[in-house]
Amino acid sequence: MPLAPPMHRIVFLGPPGAGKGTQAAELAKVLGIPHISTGDLLRAAVAQHTPLGIEADGYMRAGKLVPDDLVLRMLQERLRSPDARSGYLLDGFPRTLVQAEALTGFAPIDRVVSFEIPESVLMERLTQRRSCPNCGAVYNLVTQPPRVAGTCDKCGGTLVGRPDDRPEPVYTRLQTYHRQTAPLLEHYARLGLLSRIDAQGSREAVSERIRKAVA
Ligand SMILES: [Zn+2]
Repeated sequence: MPLAPPMHRIVFLGPPGAGKGTQAAELAKVLGIPHISTGDLLRAAVAQHTPLGIEADGYMRAGKLVPDDLVLRMLQERLRSPDARSGYLLDGFPRTLVQAEALTGFAPIDRVVSFEIPESVLMERLTQRRSCPNCGAVYNLVTQPPRVAGTCDKCGGTLVGRPDDRPEPVYTRLQTYHRQTAPLLEHYARLGLLSRIDAQGSREAVSERIRKAVA
């Protein structure tokens, strides 16, 4: 009997600014599994007016958080697709212990990769973000500066800092992340599923550490 192909059911956890999304897209491509971010799922469902999308849209229009239960149903539906048969990479979900427990019913996890990066580095990265109000392009004065200071490479627009990129809101977002995920990381560590990786350094170096963790 031929050996079953290895399953890659992976969760990426990391604070905003840790470079998780980019790495997730890359790894998913390498492993041939779908890169699933619940944010993208929600936006797609809303755009396609699926029954769950219409329901989610109601909450978002009212300025409310989309309830876990709805996100979980959406995820469950997505994981039934044939492309998720040999695994999936969940990007930024679960974020809380409650979500993780709900997931165990239909989405087993083989490995959780936590992106570890000092808060001071994140603060610097996140507060240096600038965007173009004209075309939506996003820059970073430290890691991805525009060719001409203050000017969008793509359309020549004047770059601006968003109010939520100021130090205080950024700090609050990071604190919230740590408060929510600390118990989650403990939970996965107890199950022997957690790999903490150093998310500093070049994209290639970080990608190498991730591949070792999920091998
Ligand atoms: Zn632009």
